[in-house]
Amino acid sequence: MSKVVFISDLHLHPAEQNIQDRFNIFIEWAKQSATQLYILGDFFHAWIGDDGLDEWSLTIANQIRSLVDKGIPVFYMHGNRDFLIGKKFSRLAGWKLLTEPTLLELGSEKVLLAHGDAYCTKDKDHQRFRILTRNRIFCSLFVCLPLKLRKKLVDQVRQHSMSNTSKTLEQMDVVAETVIKVMKDHKINTLIHGHTHKSGLTNYELNGVKLQRYVLSDWDDNPQILCYDNTMGLHFTQL
Ligand code: MN
Repeated sequence: MSKVVFISDLHLHPAEQNIQDRFNIFIEWAKQSATQLYILGDFFHAWIGDDGLDEWSLTIANQIRSLVDKGIPVFYMHGNRDFLIGKKFSRLAGWKLLTEPTLLELGSEKVLLAHGDAYCTKDKDHQRFRILTRNRIFCSLFVCLPLKLRKKLVDQVRQHSMSNTSKTLEQMDVVAETVIKVMKDHKINTLIHGHTHKSGLTNYELNGVKLQRYVLSDWDDNPQILCYDNTMGLHFTQL
């Protein structure tokens, strides 16, 4: 059965061979099973700009391109770690850049796709970081900095967020009121996002209507792949 496939939060990094191995398996699986692929951000663990392309990232671009060449369109949305992925990498990978959030028609229903960090509204630090890094002017100025300096800055931000353990799990999760409001504003009953790494389905109710929020998994251990087909609807599967 052909499927629309949703993934996010792979956090691909040259030092993470296990994730690379899972991704290699995934690409071969997707060639057989997917009709479309949606990548909802944090595909790379870090990205300092398309001028930082190297042999490793070119290999990844070619893997995505191998799906596109097989007639499987690939769509990509920025995450909070790879927000600097630009047109050059996208051209090489052959994927289409999506703005966040994006509405998608699945069967007779419309669903909303997002990375998800915008809904973690209790994490004020992150929301400030998000406003800055999703600003086009900031991004175009940032990529003018020398590559070495950018690499250093990105490493520093990552170390700061790794050492900052003062945030509670609740602060780092999405806020129910926020997601319900977003779903209401977009007039949709199904939201698909990543970022929190807490994969699964959460149900809410608004004025007697059931709302569904699907969260995509990370790839640290055993990725849960969200798929859609006409008979089963949305469902998680494993590679
Ligand atoms: Mn994220």
